[in-house]
Amino acid sequence: MYIALHKHAEYLINKLNSAGFEAYAVGGCVRDSIMGVSCGDTDITTNALPEQTKSVFEHNVVLETGIKHGTVTVLVENIPYEITTYRIESGYTDSRHPDKVEFVRSLKEDLARRDFTMNAIAYSHKEGIKDYFGGAEDINNKIIRAVGDPEKRFSEDSLRILRALRFASVLGFEIEHNTSNAIIKLAETVIKVSPERIYTELKKLLCGKNAQSVVNNYASVISKIINTNGDYKSINKLPADFAMRLSCLCGSSVGEALRFLRADNKTKQLCNLLINSKPIPKDEIALKLYISAIGREASLSVAVYRRALFGEDSEYKIEKLIASNTPLFLSDLAIDGSDLVKLGISGKCVGETLLRLLNHVIKGEIVNERSTLINNAK
Ligand code: ATP
Ligand code: MG
Repeated sequence: MYIALHKHAEYLINKLNSAGFEAYAVGGCVRDSIMGVSCGDTDITTNALPEQTKSVFEHNVVLETGIKHGTVTVLVENIPYEITTYRIESGYTDSRHPDKVEFVRSLKEDLARRDFTMNAIAYSHKEGIKDYFGGAEDINNKIIRAVGDPEKRFSEDSLRILRALRFASVLGFEIEHNTSNAIIKLAETVIKVSPERIYTELKKLLCGKNAQSVVNNYASVISKIINTNGDYKSINKLPADFAMRLSCLCGSSVGEALRFLRADNKTKQLCNLLINSKPIPKDEIALKLYISAIGREASLSVAVYRRALFGEDSEYKIEKLIASNTPLFLSDLAIDGSDLVKLGISGKCVGETLLRLLNHVIKGEIVNERSTLINNAK
């Protein structure tokens, strides 16, 4: 089987080969290529020890951030590539981080420590596909299967549970029976994963095409992380937007979930707006005042959210108003703050006056003309 590799990956593999080392593309990029979808970055696995990799790439910029775990990052035309020495991990006393990593001689051992068969395939043009665990067949059958004994693998590292759910949602794959049972059995161990990692995985999971069924089938896992007081049955009706889908799933508990996940302020604000939103005004002036108050992006998000959940149909009207040249925002007014300053208005009175004028204009009480606005301001 032939897989198209990025020219940089070819360069890195060839260079390692020429120095007498084995080297393969591995993991997500091989999985994605077999699926026929374009892949993100290419990870490379090699039997060269980190110091040997460094000397093979002595003429490239090399970053050593992961070197203790065997990873050397090589920049090719400013793009970073991770080259990792074949390794195994052992002693997961905290169910998250290996106590020890050990470099090994064989590719097969390296592939055996990887999470799922679909992620445990290596490839190079020279050697072709190296697939010791039936990964390619599982990809073709759309199956997520742990490499080795699932309970052991999930007990070693609970992050794998979340990765399984994330891949199931994003790729639309089924989780194989024994792998799935192990996930259910070890559900509560997901709390050992750091909130930051949970956030990243949950975000990808909720934005995946199969989010709703994964959330439904693995409610016992999800409920260990966040309170799901919302209506998960509407997730699929929403676009692949994390704030919308999380609000839908958590309902009134979304604030608590966002704090636990250390979410950024923008996500928090949007969720807050969505969850506390009221029916969007139907009357045109009221609708304009609404858009004016919360802004373009937010009003459209609320409209999309409320259409999915409550069948409201304001989205198109909002888009039309925003696209029209009807004044909605301070920047649409025929005057600005400096005009008011010239009239002797100062401090926060400037902003308040502009807002008052904008509201009069939106309500049709005065026209949006310089002289009218200035007279009114006086
Ligand atoms: P993505 O498309 O999200 O990048 P990926 O499979 O490439 O998916 P990475 O986090 O980039 O995920 O990891 C690269 C590879 O490292 C994986 O394909 C897998 O082989 C291995 N891997 C990553 N995380 C784990 C883990 N927690 N346990 C075991 N193997 C892992
Ligand atoms: Mg990857």
